[in-house]
Amino acid sequence: MRALTIGRYQPFHKGHMNVIWEISDVVDEIVIGIGSAQISHELDNPFTAGERVAMIRRTLELNGFKGMSYIIPIEDIQRNSIWTSHLESMTPPFDIVYSNNPLVVRLCKEEGYEVRHPPLFKRDEYSGTEIRRRMIEDERWTHLVPEGTLEVIDEVDGVQRLKDIVREEDSYGRKAEL
Ligand code: ATP
Ligand code: MG
Repeated sequence: MRALTIGRYQPFHKGHMNVIWEISDVVDEIVIGIGSAQISHELDNPFTAGERVAMIRRTLELNGFKGMSYIIPIEDIQRNSIWTSHLESMTPPFDIVYSNNPLVVRLCKEEGYEVRHPPLFKRDEYSGTEIRRRMIEDERWTHLVPEGTLEVIDEVDGVQRLKDIVREEDSYGRKAEL
């Protein structure tokens, strides 16, 4: 049996990692979809699809992940009614979807997929938004992400990128005028 799970992974954190480990106890193969793949260098989406692939790949490897996995970037399309077809066109066939995102859940259910809700681990800390906030405000965040993610963020100077983005956007989150 093959399962799909999807997130933006900005960045890939220990909550995401726990979910993947739990799913892989239950299914034979796991498809990890990287959502909003086309977006990067923004406050809520600082990392490229390729960087996110690297975070996940290295984490799986460094932690001795035994299962079979496919890591697949999925770009957004502005037409929800055909989003599942778009998704299916990018992934190996899957039987089950693990998601807590209401829109993903609805669209996949309408398409006839069984949808399961993965448990949330320490959601107050294991949260992309919280980790990005801590990076910007120089608070402790490295314990919230797995080693593989940490390596990639260091490699691409991710914290500095995020701080630069904050500086370049005004308090309303709009791009500063040049
Ligand atoms: P952001 O704050 O940027 O939205 P996020 O932490 O919500 O980041 P996403 O990249 O949006 O993570 O991925 C969403 C998916 O990850 C959802 O399916 C959600 O259930 C799962 N997820 C997010 N945080 C956790 C967590 N702490 N434990 C388990 N699963 C989580
Ligand atoms: Mg989210």
